[in-house]
Amino acid sequence: MDGVLAPPDGTMGEPLAKGRFGEYGGRYAPESLVEACREVEGAFRDAWADPGFRGTLARLLAVHAGRPTPLTPAERLSRELGVRLYLKREDLAHTGSHKINNVLGQALLAARMGRRRLIAETGAGQHGVATATAAALLGLEATVFMGERDIERQALNVFRMRMLGAEVVPVTAGSRTLKDATSEAMRHWVGATGDSHYCIGSVVGPDPYPWMVREFQRVIGDEARAQCAAELRTGIPDHVVACVGGGSNAAGTFAGFADTPARLVGVEAEGGAGATHGKLGVMHGCRSLFLQDDDGQILEAHSVSAGLDYPGVGPEHAHLRDLGRARYETVTDDEAIAAAVRLARAEGIIPALESAHALAWVIRAAADGDLPAGSTVLMTLSGRGDKDAPTLKELV
Ligand SMILES: *Cc1c(COP(=O)(O)O)cnc(C)c1O
Repeated sequence: MDGVLAPPDGTMGEPLAKGRFGEYGGRYAPESLVEACREVEGAFRDAWADPGFRGTLARLLAVHAGRPTPLTPAERLSRELGVRLYLKREDLAHTGSHKINNVLGQALLAARMGRRRLIAETGAGQHGVATATAAALLGLEATVFMGERDIERQALNVFRMRMLGAEVVPVTAGSRTLKDATSEAMRHWVGATGDSHYCIGSVVGPDPYPWMVREFQRVIGDEARAQCAAELRTGIPDHVVACVGGGSNAAGTFAGFADTPARLVGVEAEGGAGATHGKLGVMHGCRSLFLQDDDGQILEAHSVSAGLDYPGVGPEHAHLRDLGRARYETVTDDEAIAAAVRLARAEGIIPALESAHALAWVIRAAADGDLPAGSTVLMTLSGRGDKDAPTLKELV
């Protein structure tokens, strides 16, 4: 594997002026949204510097969302693979994935800004469920945009959102998945910036979202860093691995290790690999890497996991890739499904199909020597697999 670069100044710190990560990021939005984003940025800066806000968020994460989540040594699977694998258990966070970390932060921010409603997009439905949950907890309304195809694939999460009192709006445009739901949510926000906060679910979108969402997800990496210090002989794992859709669970995890020699690996779905196969473009308010045809038209992503079915990647990941600070790998649907079954049977944990992508890379890399025997691997298990039962039932 390549040598490790020392993290350059600013890596996983504040973005450069205008929300830039290298040549990526920015705030490409209609004027009304530029103003709304400016307000969100101001409110976030103010809140993030306020120990009162941080304390309230930390308390909600503890008493409502179940943090800190455990670090689980995967004993049997580690023996089989010849590496020492530790799982950061975001599947045990309330609502079943890491999404709640970001959403509780943004919902508290929305309340602080005097907004009464949250707008969100969702793919697998995990972000929608987390948003509906946070809205219920804080007495806000929630409107969630979801592609029609995802509504079919993720019926359980649609029910959960409605049970929690959220309005779920089906999106029938385009591929009827996450990309279209995001476009529709942004369009809707244009007419509702006065009373609504747009709660983006990943490290994508116009500034300040990529930065703000990474900061709200940093709790994964910070906890894991402390847990590794207590649990691992070396204190710091050799490799830190996470799946990448937009890239929020990976960004939050990487942030805890950016200033260490740990090698950072983001794992994408082969059919939605923005960091691996994407080209420079602008979508959903930011400059980043997106799957495009030769005319620059954004292509549809294709993945068995709805949460990775996004044709782009967050701007900071594009930048980390360029710097060589993180590397990005892809796995196929079949590899992810096999990895999900293997984790279930070796460790008694049914992972989300998204998380199973990260594990599939670990399994492959341990077999082909990319992960040397005996190395320590921290992998973020971003969510639990209950939502994927209908998909898995057809395939396993
Ligand atoms: C949404 C989701 C993802 C992908 O989103 P990121 O922003 O890349 O983290 C991964 N895993 C699970 C369980 C999800 O719900």
